[in-house]
Amino acid sequence: MTSSFKALKLAQEQIADLDLQLLKRTLRVTQSPCDTKIILGGRDLRAFCSNDYLGLANHPDLVNALADGGKKYGVGSGASHLISGHSVAHELLEKKLASFQEKYIPKARALFFSTGYLANLAAITGLARLTQRGDLSIYSAKLNHASLIDGVRLASAQMDATVNLFDHTQLISLTDALKKDTKSLKLIVTDGVFSMDGDLAPVKELLQIAEQHDALLMVDDAHGFGVLGKKGYGILEQENIQSDRIIYIGTLGKAAGVSGAFVCAQDSFIEWLVQKGRPYIYSTATPPAIAHTLLKSLEIIESDEGVKRRTQLNQLIKIWQDEMTFSEWKKVSSCTPIQPVILGSNASALMAAKLLDQAGYWIPAIRPPTVAPGSARLRITFSANHSADDLRKLITTLKKIEQEVHQKAMHD
Ligand SMILES: *Cc1c(COP(=O)(O)O)cnc(C)c1O
Repeated sequence: MTSSFKALKLAQEQIADLDLQLLKRTLRVTQSPCDTKIILGGRDLRAFCSNDYLGLANHPDLVNALADGGKKYGVGSGASHLISGHSVAHELLEKKLASFQEKYIPKARALFFSTGYLANLAAITGLARLTQRGDLSIYSAKLNHASLIDGVRLASAQMDATVNLFDHTQLISLTDALKKDTKSLKLIVTDGVFSMDGDLAPVKELLQIAEQHDALLMVDDAHGFGVLGKKGYGILEQENIQSDRIIYIGTLGKAAGVSGAFVCAQDSFIEWLVQKGRPYIYSTATPPAIAHTLLKSLEIIESDEGVKRRTQLNQLIKIWQDEMTFSEWKKVSSCTPIQPVILGSNASALMAAKLLDQAGYWIPAIRPPTVAPGSARLRITFSANHSADDLRKLITTLKKIEQEVHQKAMHD
C-alpha cells in the first residue's frame, strides 16, 4: 500500500468515525455580510452566533474606510514587517492600540499581528526564549483558548518549559504550586473572558498572586476588547488594574469587527518580539488597508457611539438574565455577550440547533473538543445590532424548542 493511499484511507476512516460520534463539523457558506440577519443557502436567518459584539463588521464607516485604505495603500503589504511590509498605517494603529492600555501597563507598546492565533504563539514562545532551556514555568488556565494551549505546547517543546494547568475558579492550587516553584521565570496565562462560558477570569486576584510569587501575567482579552470597560479598552480598564507584569493580548476580528490582533506590554518585551518572535518575523504583514480600517474601528470603540453600543449590549444581557428560564437545560451565569446553554449530549445539541434553524435562527451546536465531553451546548452571542425585541423572540422560540427536544429524548 502506498503512503498516499494509506493516508487517504486513514483520513476517510477517521472522518467516518467522527460522523458516528456526532462530532463531524460542517462548513456553511454565508451569502451576505456578517450581521444579525444573514443569508444562508438562499434563506434569511437571524444570527446569534458571531463574535461581532458591537455590530461593526458591516458598519458603513468601516466599509468606507476599507475602500479608502485600498486607494491609499493598495491591497497587499508585499513582505514581512522587518523586510518592507511595515506601513505608516500599521505604525499609527500600534500607537493607538498602545494608548488604549497605557493607563494599565506602564511604558505600553503594541505589536500588530494578522491573527490572534499567531499573536498568542508569538507572545508565549517569545517569552520562553528569553530564558535558558528548562528555566520557565507556565501556569495555564484549564479552559484557555486553543491558541494559548498551542502556544504553551510549543514553548514546552522548544524550551522545555514546565506546564501546570489551573482551575480559574479555584486559585488555591495555583498558589500552592507557585510557592514551591524555583524556576527563574514564571508565567500565568489566562483568557480574559472564557470563550465558551462567557465568565471573566479573576484578573485582580491573578495579578495579586503574580505579584506575591514574582510571575508575569498574560491575559488574552479576545472577547473583552471593545466590550468591557467604559471606553471599551477591555478587561484591564474594567477591573482597573495596573502593572508592568501584564502582557495583554487583544484580537481585532471580534468586537473590533475587522481582523487581526495585538500584543501589548512594556516596550522592551515588544522589542524582543520584533527581534526574535518567529511568528512575527516570518509572516507577511497584514494589508495596510486593514490597519487603516482598524484605526476607524478604534475611533468608534472609544467614542459616544461605542458607549451606546455597549449600553445596548448590557441591556440585552440583562433581558437574558431576567427573562430566559429553562426547565431542563442549564443556563450559565455570564455577564458578557457570550451566553451558553448547556444541553450535555451531542445529539441534543445538534437537534436543538436544527430546530432553531427551522425556526429561522442560526445558532450552531458547540461540541467537543471545543468544550468538555458531556457539555455540548448552544453558544448564544449578542450583538449591539440586536434589538430587545429580537432577543425576546429568540427567548420564546428557545423555550418551545427545549420542550420539543426534551420530549423527543424521552421517546428515544
Ligand atoms: C478567537 C480567539 C483567538 C484567536 O484570534 P483570531 O484573531 O481569531 O486568530 C485567541 N484567543 C481567544 C480567547 C479567542 O477567542
